[in-house]
Amino acid sequence: MARKKRFTRAEQERRVTQILRGLDRAYPDAQCALVHRNALELLVATILSAQCTDERVNIVTRDLFKTYRTPEDYMNAARAVLEEEIRSTGFFRNKTKSLQGAAAMMIEKFGGQVPDTMEELVQLPGVARKTANVVLGVIFGKAEGVVVDTHVFRVARRLDLSHAPTPEKMERDLMELIPRDKWIVFSHQMIHHGRKVCKARKPLCYLCPVEKVCQSEDKVLAAPMYHAGRSTSGRKAVG
Ligand code: SF4
Repeated sequence: MARKKRFTRAEQERRVTQILRGLDRAYPDAQCALVHRNALELLVATILSAQCTDERVNIVTRDLFKTYRTPEDYMNAARAVLEEEIRSTGFFRNKTKSLQGAAAMMIEKFGGQVPDTMEELVQLPGVARKTANVVLGVIFGKAEGVVVDTHVFRVARRLDLSHAPTPEKMERDLMELIPRDKWIVFSHQMIHHGRKVCKARKPLCYLCPVEKVCQSEDKVLAAPMYHAGRSTSGRKAVG
């Protein structure tokens, strides 16, 4: 487990500024990787993305979204059929229950629409703050929190932004550290960074835009010869 480091408030503020700058330079256009055309599709895709890769979700939703266009479509579907259609995303029984439960509540309580407040979104079955933050940020442009998925949870620890033991507590730490007007873009940049560079098993630190700020014990400094000098974005690392 990564050792927790202590920084003064001023040091941590300086580090945060450098990290935000590095992420901005490396990933200026980071966006949600889940393919969607509207709030309902993003909500469904985000529910399906639990314990599953975005690539797999996008494959499944490509067909799913042709058939399911409204909350009624999900609510009225035969459970066994929907389960089969989303099976490859894993935990398909629970996810089916969430999709149908959320659809039913949207119809009964929210006029058949995806609600646009944190308070209402987290009432939907299968929707916790992570999913609500994704929908609020991407669809409604509302910064109500920071998305803490598996990538953000790992990268924030490596960068000593938070060592909180749960995503909920980590989100609170990040909301204190990161300026609110950066919450939405920071979430996407951290997810992108975690997926492409700061990977779980072998982080590609030689490509990392915030390597100088990172004191993680997971850091791997040696670059394979054929990769030396390249970066994923073609942009310079933060100094
Ligand atoms: S230096 Fe390595 S471990 Fe640290 S944030 Fe960058 S990729 Fe992750």
